[in-house]
Amino acid sequence: MFKKILIANRGEIALRVIRTCKEMGISTVAVYSTADKESLHVRFADEAVCIGPPQSSLSYLSIPNIISAAEITNADAIHPGYGFLSENSKFSKICEEHEIKFLGPSPDMIDQMGDKSTAIKTAQKAKVPTIPGSNGLLESVEQAKKIAKKIEYPVLLKATAGGGGKGMRIVWNEEELEPLLNSAKQEARNAFGNDGMYMEKYLENPRHIEFQIVGDKYGVVCHLSERDCSIQRRHQKLVEETPSPFMTPELRKKMGEAAIKIAKSIRYEGIGTIEFLVDKNRNFYFIEMNTRIQVEHPITEEVINYDLVKEQILVHSGVKLSGKNYEPKLHAIECRINAEDPYNDFRPCPGKITALHKPGGHGVRVDTHTYAGYTVPPFYDSMIAKMITVAQTREEAITKMERALSEYIIEGIKTTIPFHIQLMKNEDFRKGNCTTKFMDTFKLK
Ligand code: ADP
Repeated sequence: MFKKILIANRGEIALRVIRTCKEMGISTVAVYSTADKESLHVRFADEAVCIGPPQSSLSYLSIPNIISAAEITNADAIHPGYGFLSENSKFSKICEEHEIKFLGPSPDMIDQMGDKSTAIKTAQKAKVPTIPGSNGLLESVEQAKKIAKKIEYPVLLKATAGGGGKGMRIVWNEEELEPLLNSAKQEARNAFGNDGMYMEKYLENPRHIEFQIVGDKYGVVCHLSERDCSIQRRHQKLVEETPSPFMTPELRKKMGEAAIKIAKSIRYEGIGTIEFLVDKNRNFYFIEMNTRIQVEHPITEEVINYDLVKEQILVHSGVKLSGKNYEPKLHAIECRINAEDPYNDFRPCPGKITALHKPGGHGVRVDTHTYAGYTVPPFYDSMIAKMITVAQTREEAITKMERALSEYIIEGIKTTIPFHIQLMKNEDFRKGNCTTKFMDTFKLK
């Protein structure tokens, strides 16, 4: 087992990993930018190393600075969290070369799944359905026009390096194609340093349903059921739940088997998520795989009573899985609380939290790095907390969430709490009528 783990991340996920390490008797090293000096992950880790100025490119994305911090502190493993370097095969390889265990898949596995257009080919090889599209990167506007004509408009342009909904454009007709391709390319270049684009048929009213999987060193892969992440804004998840209100035992069996098939085809090791879109007839299509822990992992933990970060550390230390798949026994929901103004087009709202009261009670979990007096820096993602409720039924989990949200007091900055309270009361949401189009018609009062 590892003796000391460096967490190459910040915010709530850094704290989340530190907590599990403590429970496993593993020492921890936090790394931080100067903007995060006062952050809780720095205070709660056994050691902390400053790795640079606020800009991510000079700190949380700086491979030499992070490797140096691991060497100085003698860490024998690095947990990358999510975002930043978590799906960077070069980082995974450099860790390997320095004999530091990267707590994620090998560079080769990341390469087969990390870029989305290659991941689609990997899924096709495993005979899992994908959405009709370009089957590879777009080479010219002319070629893009030809493919769009064949698969029929509307089509979706997607960045192969994409994430967080960036570099994506819906195209309704041929006239729009060239300008939208150019602007998506530009956005992708700025965000990911890679402007490779591919195309898919745009599904008009799908649900986003993903499967949590875990694989060990010995080729065993199992799934831990699904998460429904259909409540999104600009292709970014706002609320997640498990089980999906749209799921049936037959569909879970089929999708779970498909997810395992994909992971097995690359002998996947570690925890990961296979994402699908599901249409109204319950046809499902692979869209991408995330080769890391996800933001929404706690809902899975709550319904199957399982610490996923612990599992991740265990499989990377060589522990064997039983091969058993897990079914949700309870219902859990997560609301992402962002420092954004929901009444002002969800504009980011960094600043100092002057007063804070966190809710509690049975079945309520809040994962956050914030505290009264904490200043949300303007440099990073605007998510400041995740609130998770768990109960026997979906209805109870929603009611509990509504109650817990009403107790959550954050003063000094604007947050998305008022939005979540209204969503929990919404009739369509309560009925489970949620597709990725839900937010297009949702009006905040
Ligand atoms: P990212 O990596 O940027 O999050 P994804 O490929 O995971 O991108 O897609 C994010 C979201 O965009 C999906 O959950 C879904 O709502 C929407 N989306 C992606 N592909 C399609 C598609 N072909 N048709 C309709 N919606 C799509």
